[in-house]
Amino acid sequence: MTTAVVVGAGPNGLAAAALLAREGIEVTVLEAAEEIGGGTRSFEAVLPGLLHDHCSAIHPMAVASPALRSLGAERHGLRWLLPEIDCVHPLDDGTAGVLLRSVAETAAGLGADAARYRALLEPSVRRWDLLAGDVMGPLLRIPAHPLPLARFGLPTMLPASALARLFRTPRARALWAGVAAHSFRPLSEPFGSAIGLGILTAGHAAGWAVAEGGSQSIARALAAVLAEHGGVIRTGVRITDRAQLPPADVTLLDLDPGQVARLYGDLLPPRVAAAYRRFRRGPGAFKVDLAVEGGVPWTDPRARRAGTVHIGGTLSEVAFTEREVTRGRMPERPFVLVGQQYLADPSRSVGDVHPVWTYAHVPYGYDGDATEAVLRQLERFAPGVRERVVGLHVTRPADFAAANPNFAGGDILTGAKTVPQLLLGARPALDPYGTGLPGVFLCSAATPPGPGAHGMCGAGAAASALRHLGAGPRPQVSP
Ligand SMILES: Cc1cc2nc3c(=O)[nH]c(=O)nc-3n(C[C@H](O)[C@H](O)[C@H](O)COP(=O)(O)OP(=O)(O)OC[C@H]3O[C@@H](n4cnc5c(N)ncnc54)[C@H](O)[C@@H]3O)c2cc1C
Repeated sequence: MTTAVVVGAGPNGLAAAALLAREGIEVTVLEAAEEIGGGTRSFEAVLPGLLHDHCSAIHPMAVASPALRSLGAERHGLRWLLPEIDCVHPLDDGTAGVLLRSVAETAAGLGADAARYRALLEPSVRRWDLLAGDVMGPLLRIPAHPLPLARFGLPTMLPASALARLFRTPRARALWAGVAAHSFRPLSEPFGSAIGLGILTAGHAAGWAVAEGGSQSIARALAAVLAEHGGVIRTGVRITDRAQLPPADVTLLDLDPGQVARLYGDLLPPRVAAAYRRFRRGPGAFKVDLAVEGGVPWTDPRARRAGTVHIGGTLSEVAFTEREVTRGRMPERPFVLVGQQYLADPSRSVGDVHPVWTYAHVPYGYDGDATEAVLRQLERFAPGVRERVVGLHVTRPADFAAANPNFAGGDILTGAKTVPQLLLGARPALDPYGTGLPGVFLCSAATPPGPGAHGMCGAGAAASALRHLGAGPRPQVSP
């Protein structure tokens, strides 16, 4: 029987494993942690019964993911829940950018920018079902739907700050800046609009959904599909030497390229090993999980109904903070993302105490304490929030790295989204999942389409592995 080993049980490793197992391949997944899921895990961070997501929280790209859909993850308990309002970006003058499911309703709230917002988003949102496979796949291939893809792709080339000039109102500009800042890159960089437009388009098509019962439900559903097809997962197995790997026809690595270089460096073609060693890291995340009695008392009532709140102030403030963290400097008022998943999924709360998930963008490897900065940013738009906090749990960049080397330095995107890494992944190649070593594939978020709990990097790597297995003799990849 054909065999596969997958190292790492993050959403990409699990999606790859399930897709291979579905093809009748005998799959073993080896995971360093005691628990599966990687960036899709949940825990009682602060109080018993109060459920916080460790990492991924809000999932427009996952709901729209062709991989999760094709695996039928929803048959195994994955249920997407939607907040009433997707995202609010409040400003100090009392206005706010408000993102709703419908493009038209969002546009209506943007005043003078309504028509431009609709013109930017509506065509691609309408075709998202067709587009999702092309957008969430490798760049260097013939797209299935070239015209809609070109329509979507053209504005993605713009720096986020250039695309912001489309808008006149401070709230539309700020709303856009907050979504674009998910790339952790300076807003002035070419292709800086790509991640923001992907999130906005998928979000309008599918919603900024949370997984019922926590993001761990994504991993559990994928593991259930894998088990259904006979796949096996072994936890508590950290691979530090390739001699630990059992022989297999194909090996898929849900790892950052640096780890792959350490495991296989002497066997990899020198240019691939060099590219993996040079792989650039992005800024970090400093996470503060809060237990908040009565919820966050946002001044803007719409923020009290929103699954996500972006705290970053105006376009120019977001541009400043993102530039600073990229340059390794900690801003006094960092960009903070706030997740209120309990609004869509009340099962995560205990009585009137609610889990609030926040993280700030900080420099790579930041070793200071950003807790106060996060709380000050919350107070800025929700005065009195401190009095409601009954407990908190902090995850520093070093804690992310210790739990999962893919998040070294707190770089939760598994690599800086510089132009080459954004477009091509860890190295320029027709097959971005191939390592140049026959039968060994990279399947982590370092590959296209990049970060997110969507499993599409795993799907791309599984497709490459299947092509390899289908072509000619099947070499055993042994250590
Ligand atoms: C704070 C935070 C917030 C985020 N928010 C969102 C969000 O809202 N929405 C969203 O879609 N995404 C979000 N993400 C990103 C998302 O979680 C990741 O992009 C996604 O988990 C990447 O999946 P992966 O399978 O590539 O890798 P990972 O999830 O990193 O999984 C890799 C797995 O491999 C294991 N591993 C690593 N090294 C070894 C080794 N040597 N041997 C064995 N096992 C190993 C790890 O323990 C881990 O389980 C967030 C991430 C963080 C940290």
